[in-house]
Order: sequence, then C-alpha cells, then structure tokens
Amino acid sequence: MKEKKLPKFDYVTCCACKVCVGVCPVDALDLTISKKNTFHIEYPTLKSHEACIGCGICASKCPIDVIEMNVVN
Ligand code: SF4
Ligand code: SF4
Repeated sequence: MKEKKLPKFDYVTCCACKVCVGVCPVDALDLTISKKNTFHIEYPTLKSHEACIGCGICASKCPIDVIEMNVVN
C-alpha cells in the first residue's frame, strides 16, 4: 500500500496568505485562530487525516514553501 503523506505547517514562517486553503481540491484545510495567537490571525489547519488525500498541491503552491509533506505513521 502506498504511504500517505500529510501536510505539516511551519507556523513560525507561515504568512497566513490562505493560498493553500484555496487550492486544496478536496477542501481538507480549515482556517483556525490558535489560543496562542495574540494577533488573532487565521492559520491553515488540516480538518482531519481522512479528509486529506495527500496530493501535495498545497505544499507545491505555498508561495514561501513552508509546508512539508510527511509520511503518516
Ligand atoms: S495534500 Fe492535497 S488534499 Fe491534503 S491538504 Fe494539501 S492540497 Fe489538500
Ligand atoms: S500557502 Fe503557505 S504561507 Fe500561505 S497560509 Fe498556506 S502555509 Fe501559510
């Protein structure tokens, strides 16, 4: 069986442009305001492992390359 890879976001570098959310073909990404985020900026998060098909489009379209595709364990 082929290993599925899921996106991992580097929130330190992410500029919250939302490009990844818009390009996901299966609408697997949400925008969330984390409790630690004092500026109340919305950052992308995966809705669930099941929602993502591991296509990597979000990672390839991120303008500043902060999404890493990791094999799910
Ligand atoms: S890997 Fe593909 S399916 Fe998963 S969140 Fe990114 S664009 Fe969506
Ligand atoms: S496309 Fe990249 S920089 Fe933009 S919100 Fe997504 S992860 Fe962050």
